Amino acid sequence: MARILAFGAHPDDVEFQCSGTLALLAQRGYEIHIAVMAGGEYGSATLSEYEIRRKRLAENVESANTIGAHFHYAGGHDGEIQYDPWYRKITYRVLREVDPLIVFTHPPTDYMVDHEEVSKLVRNACFLAPVPNCDSQSSHAVTSGTPYLYYWNAMGLVDIFGRPLSLTDVVDISSVMDIKERMLACHASQRDWLRHHHKIDAYIEMMKHNAEAQGRLIERPAAEGFIQHLGHGYPTEDILSEILENLCVRLRS
Ligand SMILES: [Zn+2]
Repeated sequence: MARILAFGAHPDDVEFQCSGTLALLAQRGYEIHIAVMAGGEYGSATLSEYEIRRKRLAENVESANTIGAHFHYAGGHDGEIQYDPWYRKITYRVLREVDPLIVFTHPPTDYMVDHEEVSKLVRNACFLAPVPNCDSQSSHAVTSGTPYLYYWNAMGLVDIFGRPLSLTDVVDISSVMDIKERMLACHASQRDWLRHHHKIDAYIEMMKHNAEAQGRLIERPAAEGFIQHLGHGYPTEDILSEILENLCVRLRS
């Protein structure tokens, strides 16, 4: 069965933004891969960056296991992700390990620069991972072609100027909200931190609030929104709607 890759900057980004859609694709037999660029090193006020990275990557493996997904840590570091040759190479490596049919990643504009850099790195790797002379010293075989690329919604559902993104697809995830919540709850170090500071379970509540807000766009209880990359050189058929049928609503073509 074809492979699907969701590539985020930090542990828990994929869970917040597209784990419901991944759960639906897993239920339909697709092989799911979750990758993170950085190790979540900034995600603790008490543990060292090495200790919290170990903990957060273990949490991410547990989350991926919930839907039988494979997990990849690309090797980067929180706050240091940039569009440079080293990061481009580690991104090609993940693309070539997976050779995905569909890729999900951050939108080009988001609240945090790490997210925007990953968006650019993944977009670039989708296009160049099939090219034999790109990083030709690598032992990895090139990918079989440019995959379908979808950007998930921005964190907080608005761009850096406070505007909603121009979504192309909204996926009804109402039937898998329990799985999405279980996956996010695996990231206990982040959930506990927020719970301690906010005195409420802000981590889970924020996810539910965003899923419900996106659900209202298509009059369903909960949803995840996406923008398909429709530029030159990338496949433009709406494969998400083809696979998920009436669970995926196309807002524009
Ligand atoms: Zn992040």
